[in-house]
Amino acid sequence: MIPAVASLAKRCLLGSGHYARRLKGDRFPGVAVLCYHGVRPPAGARMDFAGLHVTLDELDAHCRLLRETCNPISLDDWRRALGGGPPLPPRPVLVTFDEGYATLLTGALPVIQRHDIPIVAFVWSDPVEQRSLAWYDAVVRARSEDEVERMKRLPYEEWRRRWAPHMVRAMDTDPCAPLSPAQVRWLAAAPNVEIGGHTASHPILAQAAPEQQRDEIERNKSRLEGWVGRPVRAFAYPNGQPGDDYTPETVKLVEELGFDFAFTSRHGFASSSEPPLERSRLLMLAGISAAELAHRLSYSWRA
Ligand SMILES: [Zn+2]
Repeated sequence: MIPAVASLAKRCLLGSGHYARRLKGDRFPGVAVLCYHGVRPPAGARMDFAGLHVTLDELDAHCRLLRETCNPISLDDWRRALGGGPPLPPRPVLVTFDEGYATLLTGALPVIQRHDIPIVAFVWSDPVEQRSLAWYDAVVRARSEDEVERMKRLPYEEWRRRWAPHMVRAMDTDPCAPLSPAQVRWLAAAPNVEIGGHTASHPILAQAAPEQQRDEIERNKSRLEGWVGRPVRAFAYPNGQPGDDYTPETVKLVEELGFDFAFTSRHGFASSSEPPLERSRLLMLAGISAAELAHRLSYSWRA
């Protein structure tokens, strides 16, 4: 079907209540763990990696749909279910945000709280600590998105050497500004927000030696725990593709360091048969309307 016609058809199906009726009688094949990155205002400036920053209107529409047709859960709900407590409801959804952009606190959180949706925020710590842009946001401005993709595949030390000269402090008004340590603390203190680890500087862990991987994961965990004053128990692998971006050694390290949940970017529902330290997720990109999300949850993500 022509995309514009398909999108109109989905809007009509949403408006007629078709997706809501279908979802309400349905069970998911696991937890739908949605993976967001940043958010931006509706008429925001042009952004690099634009697809990774949904608009606040999109996020608001997603939250309304999830609240009305699914069952948003927290990671603690999931832990209790695994530990023999109340089972998860049908159609469980866990909303996650990767990186640690300040827009999560200043833009997304009020929307999320209005709909009473629990979240897990996986936060890198070097940009927070150094008040700098994340390496890829700095490199894309100095060079290009292609250069970021090329640099991701370099061995860890060369990768650090190549992006270091592009490092810049982030202005507070920058849409890619990181949270400050105080903002990480405020975020962690909000109801139904859990802070998880995402490494110190967001390397491709598969390109790093085991001791470098350990340092990235451990340093991040200890910084975050210092800021939020409680244990950090969940982790998300940067980039997150099994084999390409992290290895079985990485998973072993994550386990040794005491994490009980870890999330990949392998596409799919997180089924009960998956290893707890390699849970699948569903990537949320800009341009996904509420109708499109309803369609994916009802049909295309289920195929
Ligand atoms: Zn990331």
